Amino acid sequence: AAKAAGKNRVQTFSPTLLDVDAAAALAVELRAAVEKEQFVVLYQPMVSTRDGRCTAVEALVRWAHPTRGLLAPADFLDVAEHTGVVIPIGEQVLRRACADAAAWRDRGETVALHVNASPSQLAHPRFGAVVRECLETHLLAPGQLIIEITESTVLDSPAVQAGVEVLAGLGVGLAVDDFGTGYSALTTLRTLPVDVVKIDKSFVAGAATEVADQAVLEAIAQMAARLGLQTVAEGVEDAEQQRFVEQAGIDAVQGYLVLHPVPAGELRTWLAGRTGP
Ligand code: C2E
Ligand code: CA
Ligand code: CA
Ligand code: CA
Repeated sequence: AAKAAGKNRVQTFSPTLLDVDAAAALAVELRAAVEKEQFVVLYQPMVSTRDGRCTAVEALVRWAHPTRGLLAPADFLDVAEHTGVVIPIGEQVLRRACADAAAWRDRGETVALHVNASPSQLAHPRFGAVVRECLETHLLAPGQLIIEITESTVLDSPAVQAGVEVLAGLGVGLAVDDFGTGYSALTTLRTLPVDVVKIDKSFVAGAATEVADQAVLEAIAQMAARLGLQTVAEGVEDAEQQRFVEQAGIDAVQGYLVLHPVPAGELRTWLAGRTGP
């Protein structure tokens, strides 16, 4: 019996140990990737449902892994967040994105820049200083930068709250990401200086077929309008979804229908093609 229990124990624990080992190895690799600046930033536009103009672009990080190709955030961000590597990664993304936004502006394409920030980035005491330095270096107006925070994690800690207040003090905008998926959506709007609400793609996916999702989209649009907030629907993949989002009164759309996330150069070409003479 003792032997069986021992065997069970090993079976139960070994996958966890393996996961911890894999995570530790990934963390080591991520630190090296920071040193070698292997992170690249792709951009995806948001366009107005009213006139189709580009209102903003979102920066989305990728890891140009030397052997595994271009990795998505899902492949490394959890480990980065739990090991603190997300801090230097986030700084590289912010610097790169601000430099790219300044380059577009210098070529006549001024758009608002959305950059994602994890809870630990927001809670980090240096975050506000890094943001301010990026704005000053590239002569970006504070209001041109919008930091996206995932709704479900927003209210976790006083340190996050403090980070949000520092950003607001700088005049930087705040967007609530994945809106509607957490437990505290309405509290978030009441307690944080939110400017933009990004409605989670799960509601958009069902908008054309599910009456409930349609109702949710409409309710969010109406509430946001009353509160003076901009609304963006994420994950719009086809014309039918776009139509429902428009009908619900959402201000802007983002998704594969408009453009997949693309490198900076491609985004600039796309911008020039839309708003050019
Ligand atoms: P998110 O902020 O909600 O970003 C939207 C995600 O949906 C992106 O995935 C984007 O590529 C994808 N997407 C865009 N259009 C469509 C569409 O029409 N349909 C579908 N199904 N998906 C679409 P991605 O780039 O893999 O990023 C995943 C998440 O990783 C982001 O979700 C964000 O939470 C996080 N993330 C990305 N970049 C950064 C970063 O620089 N810093 C931090 N802290 N987090 C980041
Ligand atoms: Ca986002
Ligand atoms: Ca604000
Ligand atoms: Ca989202």
